[in-house]
Amino acid sequence: MNTRFQEIQAGITRIDVEYTRPGFAAAWLIREQERAAFVETGPLPSVPILMEALSRQGLAPEAVEAVIVTHVHLDHAGAAGELLRHLPRAKLYLHAQGVKHLVDPSRLVEGAKVVYGEAKFQATLGGAVPVDPARIHTPVDGESLDLAGRALTFFDTPGHSLNHLCILDTATNGLFTGDAFGLSYREFDGGRRPLIIPATTPTQFDIEQYRATVARLAALQPDWIYLTHFGPLPFEPGLAEDLDAQLQGYRRVAEQADAQATVADLTTALAALTRTFGDRIGAPDGPAWAMFAMDLDLNAQGLAIWRERQRKAAG
Ligand SMILES: [Zn+2]
Repeated sequence: MNTRFQEIQAGITRIDVEYTRPGFAAAWLIREQERAAFVETGPLPSVPILMEALSRQGLAPEAVEAVIVTHVHLDHAGAAGELLRHLPRAKLYLHAQGVKHLVDPSRLVEGAKVVYGEAKFQATLGGAVPVDPARIHTPVDGESLDLAGRALTFFDTPGHSLNHLCILDTATNGLFTGDAFGLSYREFDGGRRPLIIPATTPTQFDIEQYRATVARLAALQPDWIYLTHFGPLPFEPGLAEDLDAQLQGYRRVAEQADAQATVADLTTALAALTRTFGDRIGAPDGPAWAMFAMDLDLNAQGLAIWRERQRKAAG
């Protein structure tokens, strides 16, 4: 069975872009009649995989009307510039605050090298091609895109970053949540409910904004959440409660750590918190826990930057 391209709902194909490993990062192809839209692009090396997903549907590049990215982190939007060169009619939909980062991706690239390290950056993210500003559309909160009669509605969802959008597919009552509704890997299924953890990556992560966004998304009562890392999941309110409880735990970790605490110290504390939480919901034990090493390091970096901002704001 081919697991790279999976039709997970009517007209929705999940594309595993195999960023760092299979089962970690998704892009999505939505098809309605002879029209199509991508949600997320994956990093730059994903372009041939996305184009293959399209041709497997028997669709020409001209069928794609929209490329939507939830935010401008390179694992979500890194392929956008290059992908648009292959899709003559497509417009790029993204949050207004993300535009400058994709028109001139140099800062984004430099920032990612700091976060991931040069070697890992080259091996996995690979760079970014500038986007022509004339091809960009920036939807406002509540705006809908009409894809051959199928409404895709945009929501402004800060917390993970300030330029984050979520998209509701009304046909399936499913939400494309990017990183605004956490991360959840299928390797941990088998407990009382799926293990889900917040994505508190640098540099704009804010605890209270993230909590408010999780609550707002839960209040939409979706049937499905299409997490980039790595859905789909049937929605249940307990998932939002789990994220909120952990975010409050993250706050305690940040506030209780002494001023000298390093990112490594914070990573250790977040790993313990995640483990305790996993035990509480009965997540299976095993080697898969090592998968969280990169996520928790990124989360600790984001939490450290948030803590610094809080300190400065408090004077
Ligand atoms: Zn991500």
